[in-house]
Amino acid sequence: MTTEMRAVVYHGKGDIRNDMIPAPECGDDEVRAKVDACAVCGTDLKTHGHGNPRIVPPKVMGHEFTGILDIVGKNVSGLSVGDRVVMATSVSCGECYYCKRGWTNLCVDLAPMGFTFEGGMAEFVTIPARAIANGHVIKVPDGVKAEHAALAEPLSCAVNSCENCNIEEGDTVVVVGAGPMGIMNACVAQQFGAAKIILAEINEARLKQAEPFGFDLLVNPAEQDLEKIVKDETDGLGADICIVAAPAAPPQETAPALVRKRGTVCLFASLPADRCDITLNSRTVHYGEIRVVGTSDSTPKQVAKAVEFIAGGTLLADKLASHILPLEGIHDAYELMKSGEALRVVLKP
Ligand SMILES: [Zn+2]
Ligand SMILES: [Zn+2]
Repeated sequence: MTTEMRAVVYHGKGDIRNDMIPAPECGDDEVRAKVDACAVCGTDLKTHGHGNPRIVPPKVMGHEFTGILDIVGKNVSGLSVGDRVVMATSVSCGECYYCKRGWTNLCVDLAPMGFTFEGGMAEFVTIPARAIANGHVIKVPDGVKAEHAALAEPLSCAVNSCENCNIEEGDTVVVVGAGPMGIMNACVAQQFGAAKIILAEINEARLKQAEPFGFDLLVNPAEQDLEKIVKDETDGLGADICIVAAPAAPPQETAPALVRKRGTVCLFASLPADRCDITLNSRTVHYGEIRVVGTSDSTPKQVAKAVEFIAGGTLLADKLASHILPLEGIHDAYELMKSGEALRVVLKP
């Protein structure tokens, strides 16, 4: 007997509906979770506004989910009914060059939940065999609130950038962009032991939104000289790390001037395909031996690290999960995100 469930379903550009659909089945090599919470990502907003050629409709949306396993296929070991889980939701193939090196986020055949597979904005979600086989299911300890566990996926992307930057205890980190991912990068940099966080953002409302997080310095580069402030804060040297989490060319272009020699610049935010060329001062990079790194998505290990940080209690997950709505609130969620009012909206089925 198939039961029905509520789900947020992508039917095409601008056409996202709250539907009743059959609850997913669970094969012998799969597990099924009863979803506790699913956060709404910036990519979900993009999918709504612009459509997404990678998603064949109809498809249940959502990749930032957490839930409790209610069915475990008979061939699955290591997972039990009742386990609380999150996922590294870009499911890797396990066989390609990148997977073999542990860089599953760079897999040549990534199949993300909510894109290739049915997503987590629903009452139930089936986790595919390939995800289980390749270690993409991560357990969540008791005591972590569902709305916080749902942040493990976006936070894991910041774990990836902080690892790629080799942040060390005591580092000074500049994060450019105080959108949700900028703030998450700053939070994770703190967890990595950064001693000083300078958060820069040209949108005054967003900068204000970052105030409760207690970062060391909030700077509006449209009104203040960011480079001078960073130098003043670092005995004239420059920051150890600069993470650019603003999807714009100018902050990527100016970032090398903000770090010290042998510092690292991380291009966290991607630029639109038709506006992705930037100009870098080659001399700054060359003579300063500056590393410019990219970063995209995350690995299961990084999701596990994010879960550890959330469970640790010092990362301000309560402030990150700024709005909690029922599943039916997806369109309100979009409005809250568009206005910049919400850092993360978490839907609870
Ligand atoms: Zn996301
Ligand atoms: Zn692969």
